[in-house]
Amino acid sequence: MKYTIESIHADEILDSRGNPTVQVSVLLKDGTIGIASVPSGASTGIHEALELRDNDKKRFKGKGVLKAVHNVNTTIAKALFGIDATKQRQIDQIMIDFDGTENKSRLGANAILGVSLACAHAAAKAKKMPLYSYLRFVFDLQYKKYHLPIPTMNVLNGGAHAGWILDFQEFMIVPVQRSFHERMRCGAEIFYALGELLTKKGFSTLKGDEGGYAVRLKKNEDAIKLIMQAIQKAGYKAGKNVFLALDPAVSELYNKKDGRYHLKVDKKILTRKQLIAQWGNWIKKYPIISLEDGLDQDDWDGWVELTKLLGKKVALVGDDFFVTNVSRLQKGIGLRAGNAILIKVNQIGSLSEAVDAILLAQQFGYKVSVSHRSGETEDTTIADLAVAVNADFIKTGSLSRSERLAKYNRLLEIEEEV
Ligand code: PGA
Ligand code: ZN
Repeated sequence: MKYTIESIHADEILDSRGNPTVQVSVLLKDGTIGIASVPSGASTGIHEALELRDNDKKRFKGKGVLKAVHNVNTTIAKALFGIDATKQRQIDQIMIDFDGTENKSRLGANAILGVSLACAHAAAKAKKMPLYSYLRFVFDLQYKKYHLPIPTMNVLNGGAHAGWILDFQEFMIVPVQRSFHERMRCGAEIFYALGELLTKKGFSTLKGDEGGYAVRLKKNEDAIKLIMQAIQKAGYKAGKNVFLALDPAVSELYNKKDGRYHLKVDKKILTRKQLIAQWGNWIKKYPIISLEDGLDQDDWDGWVELTKLLGKKVALVGDDFFVTNVSRLQKGIGLRAGNAILIKVNQIGSLSEAVDAILLAQQFGYKVSVSHRSGETEDTTIADLAVAVNADFIKTGSLSRSERLAKYNRLLEIEEEV
């Protein structure tokens, strides 16, 4: 069979932060090679699948991934030898079974995901199909047309991605023009305007991990005000052709001891109720259409409350909260907690499981946002995944840094094809 897996090889490469990550090549019998690499988070949720690192302090400050690479080159390569690469679900299940743990801690989610993605790339190439249409075929997805996702572009970076100069992690613009090409143009023009505005006001225009500006402001809310000015300066209308999205990533700000959110920049310590009130207030004041991780990852009651109050107005996206995990999403759906899910393939560790989370979300009317990680590579799989599943949104950073633009550029390419 020409799609039979002949060999699998992993390497340790470096991501956009210079940290080691896993790259996998899958060679098929017909000579086709599929390559994929694995992203890595900084504000990682506690319920994510395990990213296996060597913890050998002599190499890369313990961040090496030679164990994960070794697991691919030995256990996984052996287990998948001779398997048909177009049997994606079977391939993922074999690895999940070999691993045998709840969070992929034996083989490493980075090892498993690298192989999972590289198999899809190899099979798509061998079948001479673009990855987005191959994914529809291999997962038997029954969508009629292709809808390109709305980009949520992180133009101001804070939190763990920018040395904590702001408490909140991501301030995003959401251009909603008809075509993806126009959305990119709008995003880029606002990004230029924001840069000019910062220079004029005497702020630095250095950038954070996701390519957005990293600016030391007096208050978190000032970030929104600056973006509103930049939108106007660029000639767009906030609330009409561009909206705002926030990922404050507040699991990072939550203090378990006192059960409160510690906002250092704002010099405030907030209860759950006060934080929800702040989100309500901001949503009233600004054209915000999406709020991600607005409460702590384990605050189920809080999420129910938040959804009751704001769920009709905005997308309440679970990132650290749902971790691309079908069981957590199922629980959320049952409780009516949140109304949208962030999909990060490495949070769960295989393509099949990520697709399952997407399908479950869509079945219950939850919005889907396919996402990068703050540590990225030039891999563009998530662009194709977003198109394959008609995701509502894609979140892949700002309008700078090639590892971010690679995904946007892939979407520009796809738009020409579909
Ligand atoms: P991470 O951040 O990749 O550092 O986890 C992205 C996010 O929180 O959405
Ligand atoms: Zn997030």
